[in-house]
Amino acid sequence: MTERKHNFSAGPCTLPVEVLQQAQQQFVDYQGAGMALIEMSHRGEHFQAVASEASALAMEIFQAPEEFQVLFLQAGATLQFSMIPMNLLHPGEKGAYVNSGAWSQGAIADGALHGEVYTAWDGADHHYTRMPADRELALQDNTRYLHITTNETIGGVRFAEFPQVEMPLIGDMSSDYMSRPIPWSRFDLVYGGAQKNLGPAGLAVVFIRKAVLENSNRNIGKYLRYDIHAAHASMFNTPPVFPIYLFGEVLKWMKKQGGLSAMQRNAEQKSSMLYAAIEQSDGYYTCPVEPACRSHMNVVFRLPNAELEQQFLTQSHAAGMVNLKGHRSVGGCRASIYNAMPLAGVTALTEFMAEFQANNR
Ligand SMILES: *Cc1c(COP(=O)(O)O)cnc(C)c1O
Repeated sequence: MTERKHNFSAGPCTLPVEVLQQAQQQFVDYQGAGMALIEMSHRGEHFQAVASEASALAMEIFQAPEEFQVLFLQAGATLQFSMIPMNLLHPGEKGAYVNSGAWSQGAIADGALHGEVYTAWDGADHHYTRMPADRELALQDNTRYLHITTNETIGGVRFAEFPQVEMPLIGDMSSDYMSRPIPWSRFDLVYGGAQKNLGPAGLAVVFIRKAVLENSNRNIGKYLRYDIHAAHASMFNTPPVFPIYLFGEVLKWMKKQGGLSAMQRNAEQKSSMLYAAIEQSDGYYTCPVEPACRSHMNVVFRLPNAELEQQFLTQSHAAGMVNLKGHRSVGGCRASIYNAMPLAGVTALTEFMAEFQANNR
């Protein structure tokens, strides 16, 4: 195999190499069945075992209480932007949203198509460099939920503390799933696309409070109804077989590493190495995000000018560190350091940053 790159992609992103190798070994002949898992009925014994093991491990590793059910859906986190208001908002109820950047704007725009929604705090007023304190949230009467994006993948901003408000929270955790504990009692639903911390694209992992299913809206297409997916244990229609399998393998890997607390510790260590490299550069590298709200998953930074940024990207690429370009909407650089990014990748990057600075003063 060619040497693996240090892949800082924001998503799809680097996955544990052990998991990829294991999947390769099992791919053509799944556990002696004489066929691949993706060739079998999703209602057969092999896939049933895969799906129920993945569900059980997800509940265990995410430390989800039994008041919640995990659902495996398709169409990424993006479909959840619509499914949430379609299922949860009844006439006269409103959805409140924190606008913390590009992804929450997506949730707000789609939410507005399906119900009455409003922005409870607008990060645009602060150039998306921080998250709100609870007292800054302008919450209205008859608000069904407060939707937050726990980590803004593009802006590199995160909620260090989850809000504590009188209505339930809904969290888009696409880009920091399984990197921090979730205070479940505050949430009715958390969701995310798998391709940032959990596996390949094609799977959305949703945890929903079971009580919510009792009076969720029924007058929508069947695929869009949480209660139907819950009643069928995510097998209402053909589920994304391969992504669920790989998600299960990633969960086993996480468990072997020490589970959620190990993931959290690693994220703190890796992100603080990068922020320290930025802080110790005498202003050569800068991070626009307020220190308390800096993401542990997506570290954004700038260089003194666009020309140096381009050189930085070209030279780091040549040195085996790829996908460090910031999102096209904001520019600059971004290192996404999800759970499967080894410490060695971050060490290589901090060393490269120091060297680049010394050579390009
Ligand atoms: C990537 C991302 C999305 C969109 O996810 P898809 O799975 O591509 O639909 C939504 N929210 C956040 C925070 C993301 O990082």
